Amino acid sequence: MHDRSPEIAGDAEAPQVGELSPPDRTLMGPGPSEVHPRVLRGMSTPLVGHLDPAFVEIMDEVQELLRYTFRTDNRWTIPVSGTGSASMEAAIGNLVEPGDMMLVPTNGYFGERMASMAERAGGDVVEVDAPWGEPLDPADVEAAFDAHQPDVFGFVHAETSTGVLQPHVSELTDIAHAHDAYVIADCVTSLGGVEMRVDEWDVDVAYSGPQKCLSCPPGASPLTLNDRAMDKVLDRDEQPRSWYLDLSLLEGYWGDERAYHHTAPITNVYAIREALRLVAEEGIESRWERHRAVAGDLKAGLQDLGLEMNAPDEYWLPSLNAVRVPDGIDDGAVIDYLLEEYDIEIASGLGDLAGDVWRIGCMGYSARPQNVEFLLAALEDALA
Ligand code: PLP
Repeated sequence: MHDRSPEIAGDAEAPQVGELSPPDRTLMGPGPSEVHPRVLRGMSTPLVGHLDPAFVEIMDEVQELLRYTFRTDNRWTIPVSGTGSASMEAAIGNLVEPGDMMLVPTNGYFGERMASMAERAGGDVVEVDAPWGEPLDPADVEAAFDAHQPDVFGFVHAETSTGVLQPHVSELTDIAHAHDAYVIADCVTSLGGVEMRVDEWDVDVAYSGPQKCLSCPPGASPLTLNDRAMDKVLDRDEQPRSWYLDLSLLEGYWGDERAYHHTAPITNVYAIREALRLVAEEGIESRWERHRAVAGDLKAGLQDLGLEMNAPDEYWLPSLNAVRVPDGIDDGAVIDYLLEEYDIEIASGLGDLAGDVWRIGCMGYSARPQNVEFLLAALEDALA
């Protein structure tokens, strides 16, 4: 036995923290959604090294499954280490070069985040307006292109803050391409739950998060770029401002070379592999259909309770249902009651819709009839 050195002789008092035991919640908010037990099991699988040939095979499988889920053949399809904001910043920070102009929407919270990321990348930002709670009108996008000639156009396919689905995706990409611009689609709340066809709809770059319709813990976030977009990224005059999210460097790890860039979050890659395997087993079209059917029952049940959806049927977003708070009801008190009495999570409105709506998610493994029945019964009690 060695003597302790005098400097470390005193016994520091260790914090007394009990065993991990979070409450058992039914997650019907804007994300995360409930994680499928198979994904949780996958996460307890022992680690291999991030350059182990066995892991390289797992990386290939994840990329193949992501291509299926995005409906794309893009070679450049990867899980970015980090949350949805990481894949979002990888998309914007690599596509937007200093001096480029990016057109962003004003119809929700995440368009504002796009603008902030584009500015930090050294870009100039111009806006196409629509009220919170409405999609973009292609005529307004066309007018914004004529007025500003942006280099990059970003839109939010499924706006989590408003419960609005952006229809007319092909119309928007046609307009952008007629002006020689690149299109970035935010698919965080749509991928794996709402129809998105990256190749058929000619989207250049799409990003997502795993914790919504894929029902996977946050940590590895889907991103896909077509060759046209990747050519722009590889042909930049200046390096992107982020080393960590520089796609020309990440190419070394996720491309043919498989060389070290950073240590991949191995457990999260296991998790998304299993989550995507579940998508493939169910079939992507059947999965979109399940979300519509289960969320359709939720919508009908909410309307039976006398509640009104914020979005009309034509751009209703099955994965995120924004419901108007009736006059005289305290939205926060209902949210607290559901959490305290029923262990159900739903969320309040954000930004322009704060206090006006509740946001009820119906995503991935949470999009099950028993969750919907439970929530409707609890909400009926909360409103009684
Ligand atoms: N974009 C949209 C539409 C989102 O809903 C979210 C998260 O809710 C993000 C981007 C950012 O993702 P994250 O919170 O995982 O960083």
